[in-house]
Amino acid sequence: MHFVEVILPLSLAKTFTYSVSETEYHYIKKGMRLAVPFGKSKIYTALVIEIHQNKPTLYEAKEIHQILDEKPIVTEIQIAHWQWIASYYMCAIGDVYRGAMPSALLLESETIISQKQNGFVDESLLSDEEFLVYEALQQQSSLKVQDIMNILNKKNIFPVIQKLVNKNILVLQEEVQESYAPKLVRYVKLHSKYESNEGLGELLEVLKNANKQKEIVLGYFQLSASEKKPITVKKLIETANSTSAVIKVLIDKEIFEEYYIQVDRVNFSGKTKEEQLQLSEAQQIAFEKIKESFVEKEVCLLHGVTSSGKTEIYTKLIEEYIASGKQVLYLLPEIALTTQLVGRLRDYFGNKVAVFHSKYSNNERVEVWQQVLAESPKAQIVIGARSALFLPFSNLGLVIVDEEHEQTFKQVDPSPRYHARDASVVLANSHKAKVVLGSATPSIETYYNAQSGKYGFVEITERYGNVRMPEIELVDLKDKYFRKKMSGHFSDTLIENITTALSLGEQVILFQNRRGFSPIIECLTCGHVPQCPQCDVSLTYHKHKNQLRCHYCGYSMAKPTNCHTCSSVHLTTKGFGTEQIQQELVELFPNTKIGRMDQDTTRGKFGFEKIIDSFKNREVDILVGTQMLAKGLDFDNVGLVGIMNADNMLYHPDFRAFERSYQMMTQVSGRSGRSEKQGKVVVQTYNPDHNTIQQVVRNDYEGMYKEQLYDRQIYHYPPYYKLVKLTLKHRDFDKLKEGSMWLYQVMKQNLTIPVLGPEEPPISRIRNEYIRTIMVKIPTNQPLQGTKKTIQKMLNSFEAVAQYRAIKVAVNVDFY
Ligand code: ADP
Ligand code: ZN
Ligand code: ZN
Repeated sequence: MHFVEVILPLSLAKTFTYSVSETEYHYIKKGMRLAVPFGKSKIYTALVIEIHQNKPTLYEAKEIHQILDEKPIVTEIQIAHWQWIASYYMCAIGDVYRGAMPSALLLESETIISQKQNGFVDESLLSDEEFLVYEALQQQSSLKVQDIMNILNKKNIFPVIQKLVNKNILVLQEEVQESYAPKLVRYVKLHSKYESNEGLGELLEVLKNANKQKEIVLGYFQLSASEKKPITVKKLIETANSTSAVIKVLIDKEIFEEYYIQVDRVNFSGKTKEEQLQLSEAQQIAFEKIKESFVEKEVCLLHGVTSSGKTEIYTKLIEEYIASGKQVLYLLPEIALTTQLVGRLRDYFGNKVAVFHSKYSNNERVEVWQQVLAESPKAQIVIGARSALFLPFSNLGLVIVDEEHEQTFKQVDPSPRYHARDASVVLANSHKAKVVLGSATPSIETYYNAQSGKYGFVEITERYGNVRMPEIELVDLKDKYFRKKMSGHFSDTLIENITTALSLGEQVILFQNRRGFSPIIECLTCGHVPQCPQCDVSLTYHKHKNQLRCHYCGYSMAKPTNCHTCSSVHLTTKGFGTEQIQQELVELFPNTKIGRMDQDTTRGKFGFEKIIDSFKNREVDILVGTQMLAKGLDFDNVGLVGIMNADNMLYHPDFRAFERSYQMMTQVSGRSGRSEKQGKVVVQTYNPDHNTIQQVVRNDYEGMYKEQLYDRQIYHYPPYYKLVKLTLKHRDFDKLKEGSMWLYQVMKQNLTIPVLGPEEPPISRIRNEYIRTIMVKIPTNQPLQGTKKTIQKMLNSFEAVAQYRAIKVAVNVDFY
């Protein structure tokens, strides 16, 4: 009687028992993967979490198919952490497992397997079985697991597939879609025939009469002696003061070889600390204080104004932790920001920095997973977006969560709906590691934790290099419209400031939060606004493609020429988004180069990097963008930031609206004036006296915090109450209404705490599914886990009601 307890990568809260032989029993360890049968004919990759001798009482344990690993690939700390996530965020352990593992490690019977495009395959290196699979893929473009079982005439085929994936020949399902390809950088090295000493003599002989070429070769030697790292074409041209044409000649002559490396995967040979990083006095004090706070506390909030050099303080901290052999995890709110940061950290730490995020290919993610598991020095520092939290650290010493206030740290869909900042604090705890949360505009919750003494607290109030905080000028839109001082959406004040900045050779950033404020088409005769047929929203007008599009389900149609209700041809556009701002700029400033950064322009390959690079290289004078601009980008020539309309952020129906508006405005303002000169910010608003706007102008975080905290207490919101939001969805309006009322009433009767709803959200139908929400507010003085258990029980009884079974319920704990 030998059994294993496993997690399946399915949305199931239970674990399952399988039987194993005695030999297997002694071989298997917690954290290994097994291929197991499930249901009628399916096979999944299961994870072992227990080895025991207790026969299940409710069902006959099936036998496993196969052991997939020789050693555990998931640590016991991870398993415990996943169980915590499942319990805290009220989700299935199977969801956590599936969300945490790179999908290449989760082969299942439904997985579609195909050959990697453009890969070179050396057939002689394949085993017989591998070759059979490879050959079959020459006949048909994809295979399922069952097909491969038939081809190989056996059941245990996962190892064969895994080997082919490792050999870069096969790809699994989702990778067939566009995979992420970070920017490539061009490098040169000396051709191998000149590597030896005799080769060198020969080389100088060849170049005797070619001075320009010789200069480059000498430049190359100079660089490789001083830097000990790969040499980019760009750097070589600069050093030798030459041109790319000359380099091309050298490549053609086979003196140099060119090669390409992805920016964030560059390997360095050895340490490359060029200049010793010198902290300023304020930074040094903050650095010491963080370490002091770590004596007693696990977590420290670093509240440093924009451009105070928080990254440099993190760097110094990282240095100490890796010197003592510890692993470091550095979380960022946005994948697009990794490229910038990786460059900065690799300059300092060389080849110790690995990157992990969901847009990496399966193979790359598996590679980083294995490196972290093996405690490889190559992945001693891991940078990533929220999912990097799930890597198999065994010796974590420090976690950094930069821009900790960003809501992208909270996963909304699919489950697990975890908050990476909070989950990383728990993770750090089980490693006895320390956490730094950094922000210029901390979230109310984190600041509250710091004020109440739960977290340490360190502040930097000055910018690095004595750069002053920007001067903020408010423009009253009501007054400007009244006095006819507006051209389109631009006040005369904003236009004057743009003109001045441009004349000084400075760049300009214009911020337009499009959320809830996108252009729509309206009929001037009857007032009809075209709606999405599947969702409860107006369609957004995209001028460039002459289309109306739904931002929720992707539905699109050509722009109508007449009203669908009254046939009138008098249609007008209302509201404005980034595209319209760009259009107006072209007319106002005909001779400037204007760029735009939003979800539409950054979607394609390198979209984001291209825009950032061209702005950094000053190929763009004015950059128009959405909240992406607020996320910690570092520019050195921005003289002016304009906020086109502050009000649509303020009046968003959300208890965090004022907090978020403050954060957003302060963060975009922070992009201004990074060099020696004080920057300028112009904020256009209908409410110049609004408290939040006044707080932004005064750089008064404390004032914002106190006001918001007061409101949160009165209206029962975090940090005084924990929110659990239930979202119910169904295609049948009446059934949903009835079902959500049923659940609401049961909860109301069984809980002694506020239960609100069932509410129709502002957008009450998406993709033809109607939506209702119920909100539970748990006071922090109530036992949290106990209350959640009660909620879970009621959800279970809801599921047991036959007529409501088809209603989907999503649970969002600490809904953000
Ligand atoms: P924050 O993250 O606090 O907004 P950054 O870390 O991006 O600030 O620093 C702002 C700018 O100042 C960057 O260009 C950075 O290189 C520079 N900087 C900050 N501290 C130092 C330092 N100690 N030495 C050199 N440059 C620094
Ligand atoms: Zn009409
Ligand atoms: Zn839609």
